[in-house]
Amino acid sequence: MGPVLDPVQSDQVLPKKAAVVVIGGGIIGTSAALALAQKGVDVVLCEKGEIGGEQSSRNWGWVRKMGRDSREMPLIIEALRMWERLNETVEAETGFRAAGTLFISDDDEELARRAKWLDIAQPYQIDTKLLSSDELAALMPGATRKFKGALYTKSDGRAEPQKAAPAIANAARRKGAKVFTNCAVRGVETSGGKVSGVVTEKGRIACDAVIMAGGVWSRLFSKGLGLTLPQLRVRSSVQRTAPLEGGPEVAAWAPGVAYRRRLDGGYNIASDRSAIADIEPDNFRFLTQFLPALKMEWKTLHFSFGKQFFDAWSQSRLRPLDQKSVFEEVRILDPSPRSALNSNAMKSMTELFPVFAKAQVVQEWAGYIDVTPDAVPVISGVDTLPGYFIATGFSGHGFGIGPAAGRLAADLVMGDTPIVDPHHFRLSRFFDGSNPKPEAGV
Ligand SMILES: Cc1cc2nc3c(=O)[nH]c(=O)nc-3n(C[C@H](O)[C@H](O)[C@H](O)COP(=O)(O)OP(=O)(O)OC[C@H]3O[C@@H](n4cnc5c(N)ncnc54)[C@H](O)[C@@H]3O)c2cc1C
Repeated sequence: MGPVLDPVQSDQVLPKKAAVVVIGGGIIGTSAALALAQKGVDVVLCEKGEIGGEQSSRNWGWVRKMGRDSREMPLIIEALRMWERLNETVEAETGFRAAGTLFISDDDEELARRAKWLDIAQPYQIDTKLLSSDELAALMPGATRKFKGALYTKSDGRAEPQKAAPAIANAARRKGAKVFTNCAVRGVETSGGKVSGVVTEKGRIACDAVIMAGGVWSRLFSKGLGLTLPQLRVRSSVQRTAPLEGGPEVAAWAPGVAYRRRLDGGYNIASDRSAIADIEPDNFRFLTQFLPALKMEWKTLHFSFGKQFFDAWSQSRLRPLDQKSVFEEVRILDPSPRSALNSNAMKSMTELFPVFAKAQVVQEWAGYIDVTPDAVPVISGVDTLPGYFIATGFSGHGFGIGPAAGRLAADLVMGDTPIVDPHHFRLSRFFDGSNPKPEAGV
């Protein structure tokens, strides 16, 4: 089971029509619904399970600019501005604290590669610094050893994944959005080549536009409309401890372990190499497009073949819209954590900070991360299907950028001036010969 979520009350009576239907109640869908409601748009959000039940509650909770792909920089800067006042905007606790992030290294080559990111940060006047071994030690009181150095961004932050998407959804409701949980959207209807409505398990909603913010399900859902969205998924495991005094304050990605202090005083702890690529049919379909990313991540990925292959195979069968869909069958995607990776991470944490010998691990879970070939999201309309917009593929770093990504999706749907230039996020980049790749060193 995933982490316990803050509650969101579902609306009860499905409207017959809306201006926009948002599919998916993760951080992206809820943020898009809030932005639309703030614009006074008649918006309905449909979530097949619970608000935040998949990736958006299962992540590490880092809200970081540091290490971002240059194509995402304007959007993450806007996102950080939004996080800073998000508690006020949503009138609830999202857990955001600007407590800083560290990428720690013990290897000169890796440190030099990390340091190159300062060139990306420089035009934006971000406070990222390369720390010496002694400067780093000052940010790790209680550590048993020193490292060669680290990249550090004091203005980066953390937030609570189990609180943020629910808080945003509740705020969207207060602003007039209708939010339905346990309400899978089976498919989209079109008329005259344009979106004309959605079919949910609770009935039909006529609408002019849809935002597909379905996380790892976005590819399958879009396939039902004859669209190709190159997207794969990787599994990642996390554990959390009970509250613990005397641990580190600044979130860090160190050799062997990544950690982040929680609002409840405990810690989220994961392996620094926690990504598992489950071999699935889509891996073969998209192999060529994902090869550059695969080469880059080869050393850090674990591969696994088993039940997941057959589950993914059977889940990929699309059905007529009057039949129960796979989206209803898998209310909340809840993959098994890889406990050995979590145990090794905890061992590294205890070796580094002996105070963790007293830490009690109270839960572990896993989540599937949706990835694109260039590790940059798709936030885009679809040229061949007016009214269909996609906001997905956040490639393991969508929580932090979420509030601004949702706002960008809302701007695009309404034809408003976009919060940032959306060019790098267009879906067509995968088909127009651009052949985009992940940025080295991010
Ligand atoms: C272990 C782990 C660690 C991570 N760490 C970080 C981090 O520290 N910082 C960071 O920025 N990012 C991190 N991420 C990535 C981040 O969690 C995701 O990028 C982000 O949550 C994506 O949000 P989303 O709304 O697109 O997707 P999701 O949260 O997956 O939401 C999609 C929702 O759509 C719903 N849905 C799908 N299809 C339908 C349908 N047909 N009808 C109705 N509902 C549907 C699903 O049920 C789901 O709730 C991490 C992810 C994982 C798994």
